[in-house]
Parts: sequence; C-alpha cells; structure tokens
Amino acid sequence: MLRSATSTLRRVAATKAPAQMAARSFSTSMAQSNISFGLSDDQLAIQELARKFTADEIIPVAAHHDRTGEYPTEIIRKAWELGLVNTHIPTAYGGTGLGVFEASLVSEELAYGCSGIQTAIEANGLAEAPLVVAANEEQKKKYFGRMTEEPLMAAYCVTEPGAGSDVAGLQTKAVKKGDKWVINGQKMWITNGGKANWYFVLAKTDANARTGSAFTGFIVDADTPGITVGRKEQNMGQRASDTRGITFEDVEVPHENVLGAVGQGFKIAMGAFDITRPLVAAGAVGLARRAMEEATKYAVDRKTMGKAIIEHQAVLFMIADMAIGIESARNMVYKSGWLKDNGHRNTWEASIAKALASDVAVKSASDAVQVFGGAGFNTEYPVEKLYRDSKIFQIYEGTSQVQRLIIGRGVVDRLSK
Ligand SMILES: Cc1cc2nc3c(=O)[nH]c(=O)nc-3n(C[C@H](O)[C@H](O)[C@H](O)COP(=O)(O)OP(=O)(O)OC[C@H]3O[C@@H](n4cnc5c(N)ncnc54)[C@H](O)[C@@H]3O)c2cc1C
Repeated sequence: MLRSATSTLRRVAATKAPAQMAARSFSTSMAQSNISFGLSDDQLAIQELARKFTADEIIPVAAHHDRTGEYPTEIIRKAWELGLVNTHIPTAYGGTGLGVFEASLVSEELAYGCSGIQTAIEANGLAEAPLVVAANEEQKKKYFGRMTEEPLMAAYCVTEPGAGSDVAGLQTKAVKKGDKWVINGQKMWITNGGKANWYFVLAKTDANARTGSAFTGFIVDADTPGITVGRKEQNMGQRASDTRGITFEDVEVPHENVLGAVGQGFKIAMGAFDITRPLVAAGAVGLARRAMEEATKYAVDRKTMGKAIIEHQAVLFMIADMAIGIESARNMVYKSGWLKDNGHRNTWEASIAKALASDVAVKSASDAVQVFGGAGFNTEYPVEKLYRDSKIFQIYEGTSQVQRLIIGRGVVDRLSK
C-alpha cells in the first residue's frame, strides 16, 4: 500500500503542474528556511493540493456527513493517498515529513471544507505527536510504519469523565506486573475512539509522585482484550468526527510500549500540543475564512432598502472584523509553527494561536449567521453548520480559559526574568 501511495504521488508530481504536486514529495528542509511573509513555491503547491482536494472531495459531501454523522472513511482514504493525513510522520517511516508550518496550510484548507472531517484527520496527528516527541526507533518503525502502509486511524486518550482541563486529576491507572503493564480506567471524548487502530493512553503510574512524574504514556493496540469502545456521541457540531468514551479493564500492555520513560507521560502528552495546537488553530482559521467568504457573497447579492446589504456599513464592518481576525490568527499559526519547526520553544505562541483562532472562528461564524438573517438559521444555507462546528475549537485541546492560563503565566514569567 505504501509503495502504491508513494508511487501515485510521484506520478502525480511528475505528470501534473507544480501546483498539483502531492504533499509527500516535499521535504522538511523547507522548515529551515528563513522567516518570510510569502509562501515558497513548494508551500503554495501543498496549499493548492489541499485546496483542490477540499473543493473536489470534501465540500460536495460535507452537509451529508453533518446530517448523517457518517464517518468520512472514503474521504480520509483519498486524503491519505495524497499524503494529506499523518503529516507529522517523518519520511524515514514512509510519511510526508511536513513541518508544523506546512501542515498548517493543509489543516486550514481541509477545515474550510468541513472542520468535522478535518478533525477526524487531525486526530491522527494528535495521537502521533506523543510518538514524535518520545518514541524510540522500534516504536516509530512499528506504529508510524503501520500508519503509512494503510489508511489507519489512531486516537489520543487523555481526557476522562472526571478530568479534562485538570490533567493532574486523571484516574486511569497502570500497574506493572512482570514485563507488562495493566491499565484500568475510563477515557472520554476521544476523537477517532471507535475507528482507531491504536491509542496513545496517559495513565497514572505513581500515586504519590508530583504531577510531572506521576504519569506514563503508553501505546495501546485497539484490539487488546479488555478495551470497550462506547457509543458515538451526538455532538452539536463537527458531526462527521467520531467521539467516544473508551473503557480499559485489565488491559495488558507490554513494557516495550511505554513511551519515553516511566513517569514522563505528562510532559510527553503536553509536549504534543506544541505540534498540534498550531494545527487546531489553523483549522479554526479555515472555518472562519469560509464564514467570511459565504457571508460576503451573500451580502453582495442580498438587497434591503434599495441596496446590497454589503453597502450598509454595519454589515460591511462585520466582514471587516472577520478579515482582521483571520489575518491575525493565521499569522500566529504561522509564527507558532515556524518556531517549532526551527527548534524553538513555541508553547506560549501555540496557545495564543489556538485561543485567538478559536475566538475568531466562533465570532466569524456567529456574525456570518447574522449577515444571512433568517436564512442563516436554516440548514439549507452553509453558515449554521459553521456556527455549530466552530464552538468546539474553544474547548478541545485545551479550553480557551486554559490557553489564557498558559498565556498569562507566560507574560508573568517573562517579566519576572
Ligand atoms: C468533540 C470533542 C473531541 C475531543 N477529543 C479529544 C481527544 O481526542 N482526546 C482527548 O483526550 N480529549 C478530547 N476531548 C476532550 C477535551 O479536550 C476536553 O473536553 C477539554 O479539555 C475540557 O475538559 P472538560 O470537558 O473536562 O471540561 P472542564 O475541565 O470540566 O472545564 C469546564 C469549564 O471550566 C473551565 N475551567 C476548568 N479549569 C479551569 C481553570 N483552572 N481556570 C479557568 N477555567 C477553568 C474550562 O475552561 C471550561 O470552561 C474532546 C472533547 C470534545 C467535546
């Protein structure tokens, strides 16, 4: 499969115009480039590939997946063929090896079409990020290799019914028995929960230790006995995505599936967000851009009191505020991605990008509904879906309040140095 995917990409790259070249054919070396406010030709080509894929494959079926909640298996398979899934996996393991910056171009485009489908795709990246941070060679070969050989899904299992923001309060436990660990506990709100081939699981391994050394990260095969997958949750938005509770009952995991070292799990799970929060933020930017474009097109056509509503300043200013938010948020996405790709700490900037872009998405979608008037409240028009889909950006991968804790504390730390 890997060979056929790779050869398809090479063929596409060889036979089509540069703008249609597949993501897999680009190297991470771009991430080393100096700062620039213009995208390179390769970056433009990645963006164009994702934009075309979104127009051809996602937009036509987004309403169907929203209405039915059907998981977008076929779309993900096609995206995988093009290298638009698993963008973090290095080329050494058959991946595209894109930097966070380049991956953010993909995320924005996919979310422009449907942020539910983008979230399903992005959740693979979230599960893989702890492995990028801490996996050893054998683990990378086995689990990254698997993801690039077949269009498989993976999931990141941290949140529990009793603890989301309060990661230190997680109750899932892992106990060492011989050369195995036995995991017991319950996870909740797990994206790709019912579709994953393997999970990243954070469990408490030392009840007496401080948070920073109390947890361990495990890679757990989804078919391990003792795992029960709950029903698909009926969410307000992003309904194409698969969100479930997962129960672990005496689940035995070999010691070789410990990520990093015992006690490092909290740092690994949080470190993953430096990679993924810029991409969640990019998704929020994509949604906001869609809201702005839909609202603008409608406002140009719709007339009241003898003129197009775009000519009423109150309406035009709503569009202007969307543009201000989108441009600002995208710049923070780019900056946080660039920092990470160039070996700098980006936790603070990733939180700013995530908090800003989420708020911009929610405000832009809400204002797009406003611009549409009564039609905005109706499922025949695209903006009510954007409105429902937007809200989760302020909740998952750290709520907007949690981002502000990180940002605010960062300001204090910087000033007290
Ligand atoms: C659709 C969906 C998909 C998800 N996917 C995943 C996934 O793949 N993997 C995963 O592990 N989790 C996932 N989550 C879980 C998500 O990350 C959590 O819901 C989120 O972190 C918030 O946790 P909580 O729901 O427990 O809310 P709580 O932590 O109970 O927060 C409730 C409210 O209190 C606020 N709050 C809490 N603590 C503080 C504080 N110290 N200061 C200020 N305000 C505070 C919060 O901001 C929020 O407004 C998903 C959730 C949803 C809904």
